[in-house]
Amino acid sequence: MVLTLFATSLRGRKAYKDVKGMVYLECTVCYSIKIEDSFQKEKTGFLGRRFNCCNCRNEQNRQYREKRALA
Ligand SMILES: [Zn+2]
Repeated sequence: MVLTLFATSLRGRKAYKDVKGMVYLECTVCYSIKIEDSFQKEKTGFLGRRFNCCNCRNEQNRQYREKRALA
């Protein structure tokens, strides 16, 4: 898979495109590069996507629920 850097956010987040023009974003939590569909839509986010991928978001939600369960 060949990815070309095409945009960098103010905070240094990188966005890539492959040969077919599909957009890939870097997750700021796990640093893996995933297709943009792996990131939830967010109007104010870089390229309209959240900063963390769905895996990291799920993990965050799980920790949040566990914390609440203990409280
Ligand atoms: Zn992630």
